[in-house]
Amino acid sequence: MECNKEKNISKLCNCTYEPCSRKGTCCECLHYHFSHGELPGCVFPDDAERTWDRSIGHFVRLYQAGRI
Ligand code: SF4
Repeated sequence: MECNKEKNISKLCNCTYEPCSRKGTCCECLHYHFSHGELPGCVFPDDAERTWDRSIGHFVRLYQAGRI
């Protein structure tokens, strides 16, 4: 299976952190953040993504607030 890196970047990735070599390589992005107790930027709404707080706790708070 081929990686859809360019499609992922153009259609799915809302990450504002530059530069990042994992951008568009979702498998690496997920493993990197999850190994740090975090989630990828794309699971956060745009305004929350821009805080660069990718913690699971941040995600849960947004979810409980009905933002996700
Ligand atoms: S969410 Fe993290 S690993 Fe993924 S592209 Fe953005 S900075 Fe890189």
